[in-house]
Amino acid sequence: MHISHDIHTHNLYSGCCYDPEATTQACVRHAMELGHTVFGISNHLWDESVPGASRWYQGQPISYGAEMKYAFPADTGGMKLLFGVETEYCGMTDTLGMRAEHAGVFDYVLVPHSHLHMRNFVIAETEDVRACRAEMQAKLRETYPELPENTLRKMVSALSMEDMLPLIPQPRVDYARYLTDFLTQSLLSLLRNPELRRLAAAVPVVIAHPLAPSACGNAYWQIVRSLDRDQLWECCREAAALNVAFDVNLWTFRIAEQGLKENPMVDVMRLARSAGVKFTFGTDAHRVCDLDNIRAADDVADAIGLEPSDLCDIVRV
Ligand SMILES: [Zn+2]
Ligand SMILES: [Zn+2]
Repeated sequence: MHISHDIHTHNLYSGCCYDPEATTQACVRHAMELGHTVFGISNHLWDESVPGASRWYQGQPISYGAEMKYAFPADTGGMKLLFGVETEYCGMTDTLGMRAEHAGVFDYVLVPHSHLHMRNFVIAETEDVRACRAEMQAKLRETYPELPENTLRKMVSALSMEDMLPLIPQPRVDYARYLTDFLTQSLLSLLRNPELRRLAAAVPVVIAHPLAPSACGNAYWQIVRSLDRDQLWECCREAAALNVAFDVNLWTFRIAEQGLKENPMVDVMRLARSAGVKFTFGTDAHRVCDLDNIRAADDVADAIGLEPSDLCDIVRV
């Protein structure tokens, strides 16, 4: 099946976009060159009326992101241009970063539950990793007594949970298991969150890169492979019942290292399809050139076995 849309993209309004060329105009122009019929921009935003934003999200309120719409070109040569957003869901506190009554300015809302790099915000760090971090900070304090505590803290927190593992001789927690369980549990708690249900009734909602663990390095495939099928099925049935779609996010297939044959993420998406979930495609581009990754979409759609009727209404023309 030919995929001619991309609705998971970022530009300079996202704090993690470092491509100076990635203006709204340039992204839209490139999407037109790629022949898209539907294109959406979905920057990271947190509704400022929801308490608990991380420092990073405090710099990305809706009021700031909404400005982007002013840069939408009037002429898109017939391509449907959508104003989207990727907000946040913090599984550890069951907090959704977007209220339904403020989502009306967007054509759709992407909700991620798997930003595992946002430690102690999206996911709680395990106790042994936390203790190890404190120990490392103490050692650094001895070595560099001239450095302020805040600098030492920044040095230590730059390491991911996975980076810390070799420093824990006898981990008390099975790290891959912990992340695997978190993924299905946080997706389920998101789908049962009352605010998410209100949101889904107000505006099209898509789960961003569902069940794809970020920042877990080599454990990625082990985690995706060990997702509990019964829990997965339950998640997918709930999503389908709520009319919440899944983002077929091209980076999550890691095609270069895994290929598409027997790709565990393809399996996850197949299961979602049989549960009745609808789909949208996204490159999750953070640079203009990343938009070209959509070229892998047709093969991914075929590997999953998708048909035009499996696509969510917002990406149809
Ligand atoms: Zn994301
Ligand atoms: Zn994204």
